[in-house]
Amino acid sequence: MTVLQTDGLTKRFGGLTAVDEVDMSIDKGEGVSLIGPNGAGKSTFINLVTRRLEPSEGDIQFNEQSILGLDPHEVVQRGMSKSFQTASIFPDLSVEENAIIAALAAEHGSFRFNFLRHRNAYPEVTRVADEVLESVGLYEQRNATAKNLDYGNKRRLEIGIALAAEPDMLLMDEPTAGMSPEETESTVELIKEVKEELDLTFLLVEHDMEIVFDISDRIVVLNRGQVIAQGTPAEVQDDPAVQDAYLGG
Ligand code: ADP
Ligand code: MG
Repeated sequence: MTVLQTDGLTKRFGGLTAVDEVDMSIDKGEGVSLIGPNGAGKSTFINLVTRRLEPSEGDIQFNEQSILGLDPHEVVQRGMSKSFQTASIFPDLSVEENAIIAALAAEHGSFRFNFLRHRNAYPEVTRVADEVLESVGLYEQRNATAKNLDYGNKRRLEIGIALAAEPDMLLMDEPTAGMSPEETESTVELIKEVKEELDLTFLLVEHDMEIVFDISDRIVVLNRGQVIAQGTPAEVQDDPAVQDAYLGG
């Protein structure tokens, strides 16, 4: 089953074509990384797919239905979740409450804080939240106030919040930016674990090649808005076009 597919996806800014007829498809359970030099069009591509930008041309299908015409929050409701770069944590709530809110928001399309007072009426949501906390290694700390978590655990909670929506695809934009080497390593391990455990489908934008080669099933290389190569990490690593793009700018 194809989770995400773009056909001829194009975005022009005046005379500049930032994303140029990109055909990309991601299957269920596949972990795909989007790489390319600065200005290649990676962020623009993500903004198109999440409906934050309107394409100039082309189509985007999510779960085999076109999402053109949908608002960003409707895309999220259909199962596309974006982690990182979003201040998604409520600092004064507990770890578990944060996960519950994320699960509720996904199920109901919106949430009210007073849901938390009636959480016993939502055993299913609490179960999802606790399972997610278990899988990101935060179950023991579920009663801690979110703001008191250390940096690495806050990032774990961000992943947990994204997963609590039980997404069909997780988008990650430079998930380890600003992390220490230890935090980076544990986050990469966590993404690998969660992928195994939940058969997670993800699209990752990342410039650290070590991470990309470590966690991707497939790599798509953009340069000047166009896909210049794709394949397994081993295939992409040896591709002369990729080496040219990085060395030649
Ligand atoms: P990447 O994320 O791969 O570094 P971007 O998608 O941010 O690349 O940018 C691709 C190209 O589009 C760059 O040349 C950038 O300057 C240009 N660009 C991105 N956003 C805009 C915008 N809102 N208006 C005009 N040009 C833009
Ligand atoms: Mg970018």
